[in-house]
Amino acid sequence: MSRTEFTLHHGSDTIGGMIAEVRHGTHRVIFEMGAAYDPRTDPYSAGIQQRNASWLKDALRLGMVPPIDGIFPAAAIEGIDGLISAEESELETIVFITHLHLDHMAFMGAVHPDIPVYLSQNAQTIERALEDTGDGVPTFRDHYTAFTPGEAIRFGEIELLPLLSYDLAYGHSSCLITTPDGSVHWTGDLVMHRPEELPHRLKEIELLRERSIDVLICDCCEFMHADLVDEFRNEDGTLRATLDLPAGWKSEAQMERDRENWLLGATGLVAFNFYQREMAMAELLQELASRYGRTLVFEPDAAWIVHRYFDIAPTVYVPDSTRYAAEPKDPWFIELMDNCTEVTREEIEAAPSQYLLQVSYPNILELFDLPSAGGRFLQIFGIPIGDFDPAWSHLVRVVEQAGFEFVDIGHDMPAGHSSPGAVQYYVEGVAPNILIPAHSFNPERLEAPAGMTRLIPEHGQRFVLKDGQLTPIES
Ligand SMILES: [Zn+2]
Repeated sequence: MSRTEFTLHHGSDTIGGMIAEVRHGTHRVIFEMGAAYDPRTDPYSAGIQQRNASWLKDALRLGMVPPIDGIFPAAAIEGIDGLISAEESELETIVFITHLHLDHMAFMGAVHPDIPVYLSQNAQTIERALEDTGDGVPTFRDHYTAFTPGEAIRFGEIELLPLLSYDLAYGHSSCLITTPDGSVHWTGDLVMHRPEELPHRLKEIELLRERSIDVLICDCCEFMHADLVDEFRNEDGTLRATLDLPAGWKSEAQMERDRENWLLGATGLVAFNFYQREMAMAELLQELASRYGRTLVFEPDAAWIVHRYFDIAPTVYVPDSTRYAAEPKDPWFIELMDNCTEVTREEIEAAPSQYLLQVSYPNILELFDLPSAGGRFLQIFGIPIGDFDPAWSHLVRVVEQAGFEFVDIGHDMPAGHSSPGAVQYYVEGVAPNILIPAHSFNPERLEAPAGMTRLIPEHGQRFVLKDGQLTPIES
């Protein structure tokens, strides 16, 4: 008889890197294929080159991706002992990706091309543009499968229901997986203070509560900040369930006013560094540029994504880089230059206050040859994202040496994910039987409210799901 098994392969005590599965009989849904985000333990961020043919084997050996049976191509894992390849496996598998952040999808390309990987259509457009420029994830695949939020995907006796949680740009979805034995919900990134997200999450809470789900895997990223958790503690040590923002966090209205200040009063060139797959931010920058009568200018790599995503002809500045000078030119570069307006350094020098110009971290030395009088540099969540990354000090030093004012937008904004109070609000609203805190350095700080069981599984530990309980399988 078929039973339902649950395994959390990775991601209970890291920022992202979530990979989990629900199996019923011979059918299996894997959700997320992310890499944990931590430049301190990532050998590639310290200059070691990723190898060409052996990248997956290396990722397995380095523990960056867990040894999951039945999903990797045999040829790519030859020599890794004890791991069953996709070709050898008797399981049928599908993979679901909630959104296009590397901590959720960096290893989706490692999945055998015959196994469907569900990725939203917009995310596919961006990933393909990234692949064109060589910035896609390493991959054995040339296709992904689109899905429609709200429409269930049936697979054997498993139902996978993607729920839209954020509807700007490529969107984010959570996923509810139901089998004849029970249900598991994964929140994906939970960011309830985002006005584009809150209404979706309130609907989600209602739906999950109605369905009396068994297992909730909940993002509690911000619980890594002990002070922030304490801010929401009641006298008896329990957490206050509230959507009120923590003391230091800004409201959306305040952030809106802050965004005005990004350009307000700037008398010279304004340069910026952003996470260039974020098309919602590209749109916001366009809106600001128009409001202040500036021309928004991208570097070629980001311009290519903008061109493919919005189907527009962006304005492009080509930095002094071997990447763009090399001959013969890449096909994407040729097509971009045929479909954009180019702006030269001379034109920027002649009227610096007319431009809002992307200068990414790899090209940061470009600032030395750009007009700095009254110049400002906006650090808008581009890599490096914080001073825990050694690259941060290089960024700040060059910006200042080049004579630009360094403005860190990121530090003015909420860190990103839901506050401890909002997580508690979500958990109490959903009221699952079992709570699995995840996507955090400190999952143990999210305790189960009365009537709920909390579980922090060991990576790779298998459980049977039945009658609302997860029972470990002795290996
Ligand atoms: Zn994440």
